[in-house]
Amino acid sequence: MANTISELEELLKQKHLSDPELHAAAESAEDYRILPDVSVVKIGGQSFFDRGRSAVFPLVDEIVAARKNHKMMIGTGAGTRARHLYSIAAGLNLPAGVLSQLGASVANQNAEMLGQLLAKYGISSVGDAGLSAVPLYLAEVNAVVFSGMPPYGLWIRPAAGTVIPPYRTDAGCFLVAEQFGCKSMIYVKDEDGLYTANPKTNKDATLIPKISVAEMKAEGLQDSILEFPVLDLLKEARHVRQVQIVNGLVPGNLTRALAGEHVGTIITAD
Ligand code: ADP
Ligand code: MG
Repeated sequence: MANTISELEELLKQKHLSDPELHAAAESAEDYRILPDVSVVKIGGQSFFDRGRSAVFPLVDEIVAARKNHKMMIGTGAGTRARHLYSIAAGLNLPAGVLSQLGASVANQNAEMLGQLLAKYGISSVGDAGLSAVPLYLAEVNAVVFSGMPPYGLWIRPAAGTVIPPYRTDAGCFLVAEQFGCKSMIYVKDEDGLYTANPKTNKDATLIPKISVAEMKAEGLQDSILEFPVLDLLKEARHVRQVQIVNGLVPGNLTRALAGEHVGTIITAD
């Protein structure tokens, strides 16, 4: 295995970019976490934001209080308006890339609204989560709002047999957390966590406090509370090896999760 930059450089000159020896050499560098003290918090679109003031106002208060002790990148989901757009666009036979852009526009709307609500506390919404001024906002006020949809747009990899974009805001927020080597990934939704079945339609469903990706798939729960590609992203992740789902309608849950407490469901990579 190559241990020096010059060895890697030699391999890069000589070898195909998918060469195993080259990959091994590139892997020998130590992992670097860009924002290791930051938690990414995703606010659900359909499950949370679309409930309006009864859900959003208390969470805004909680975020404002929590940022005294915790650094947060707050990503927004899309939700009901995006689903409406998807149904119209799919009916018009438009492709996944177009639907991805439409979904992004709704996540943007939610980021815009949340940013306005947090403005008086000095917390800004940024146009995209790619670094830009994000570190400065985090250093100054411990929090920043971003739109959770990953910016694949037309270049999204379509899923077989559907025009619904497979990578939406659960995935977008996870990728931000993973790329920046963040401390944690917390999903704020409207249920206490992952259940044995959808609790909205199955009254016998029970809460699962902790589960691995493999167990989730074995139980047939891979397409339930999180977008299914998140499980594979989590399994392959270097930094973010677990995600937590909390019920944001219960005051204090987000703060407890930020403090590392086990509330809701923790899904582990292995
Ligand atoms: P978001 O608003 O973040 O996009 P979703 O509405 O897509 O969230 O996903 C959360 C919803 O998933 C919950 O409100 C719940 O109705 C549904 N759900 C389906 N299966 C399950 C399950 N097994 N456990 C918990 N929630 C589930
Ligand atoms: Mg969703």
